[in-house]
Amino acid sequence: MFEGQLSETTKCSKGHSINEEMNPFWMIPLSLRDNCDATYSVEKGFERVFNKKTFSGDNSVFCPDCETKMEATSGCTMETSPPILTLLLKRFDFDYTTMSHVKSDCCVEVPPTINTPQKKYELYAMVNHMGSISGGHYTATVLSREDRAWYECDDAHVTKAEEQPFTKTSTHRSRTAYLLMYRASESDRDNLKDTFEDQERRRDEAKETCNGSKSHINKLKDMLKSLKSRTNKVKNTVEDPDSHRDKMKDMVEDPDSHRDKMKDTLEDPKSHKDKVKHMVEDPDSHRDKMKDIVEDPESHRDEVEETVEDPERCRDEAKETSKVSKSPKHKFQDMFKFSKSHRMKVKDTVEDTDSHRDKVKDTIEDPERRKDEAKETQSKAPDSHSQERKDTVKDPDRRTDEVKEHRAGSNEHKGVGEDADKEIPESLNSSADNCRHAEELCVTSL
Ligand SMILES: [Zn+2]
Repeated sequence: MFEGQLSETTKCSKGHSINEEMNPFWMIPLSLRDNCDATYSVEKGFERVFNKKTFSGDNSVFCPDCETKMEATSGCTMETSPPILTLLLKRFDFDYTTMSHVKSDCCVEVPPTINTPQKKYELYAMVNHMGSISGGHYTATVLSREDRAWYECDDAHVTKAEEQPFTKTSTHRSRTAYLLMYRASESDRDNLKDTFEDQERRRDEAKETCNGSKSHINKLKDMLKSLKSRTNKVKNTVEDPDSHRDKMKDMVEDPDSHRDKMKDTLEDPKSHKDKVKHMVEDPDSHRDKMKDIVEDPESHRDEVEETVEDPERCRDEAKETSKVSKSPKHKFQDMFKFSKSHRMKVKDTVEDTDSHRDKVKDTIEDPERRKDEAKETQSKAPDSHSQERKDTVKDPDRRTDEVKEHRAGSNEHKGVGEDADKEIPESLNSSADNCRHAEELCVTSL
């Protein structure tokens, strides 16, 4: 309530800062010494506190930057004006001529208002001291807020002042006034309130801005996502301009159908999302379908036409297909496994043709024993291999030819196997691309 801040600075004549400090204050002391004989003007005295002072000659100040004593000026400004400003009139002082403490009873002119750069103040109380330095009496003169009249407070006695200050003169002359208390004027207090409310409002606004910036960041994120998806689309366009041109051509030639598709997506975003989800979950099947369409566009067009003409039947068919169909990825995996095991068998035959020929020879020389052996094998393990042996027994020459064929064919199978080895990672790569692409489609469709 009473605390303010004073900033004090000292600069050398070259402008170097020698001293800068900020100090709190609870009252501003005013020295009466200079004007003791005449009437002391509080207003001027208060202004003098903030006047620049020059230190020159013997009073020069050492400047660290100039590395020598320099003429310097010091200044004081009120950085923070308190709600209640108290001025202390230094009536109690040390008299160097008599080397004793003295009390000054000089007459002071008290202004009803005091201005600082920030506030206007209104006098509302004075503390008076009557008596000497060794003893005396304190009273207070206070302005009532109720009737706007000044009252004298003397211990327990409160009386309306006989002579109301500021009624006949613009200033109040006093020989006893010791403390002057000024209150920030009503309008300034309103301003203060406004400032406070303004601060609150600004804080709220800042909060909102902060929250807004979060949502803004999210919007930007979304924009970034859609930008990425657009970049990918553009990339696709660059990589496959013909397909893109065809699509555009379709759109240009049949804008209604394109509009209908878009309308469908807008009207039934869930179904669209499901489609995209499906693509994400089974990109291989999607890719295969696309491949089919590319390879056989006529049949696709027919299918679509059928779907359009009889959507119910198409839906039923699709349902049944989904029950039995295995995804191409799985089929392909099976093929790969099978070709591997087959390749191994053939490889064995190829690498050890002699042992195979010997077996065949044995069979020729002693067909009966082989037949029995085969029968035993069959009863123990009725598999395709026992069947093979049986065949060998019946027609050994044919089997030899078959082995030869196998040998030739194994290269083919080997090729399939190698292709499979190569193609699976590729398909996985492109399926990852599809996943990403579909994800982006998903994001943009949302
Ligand atoms: Zn300097």
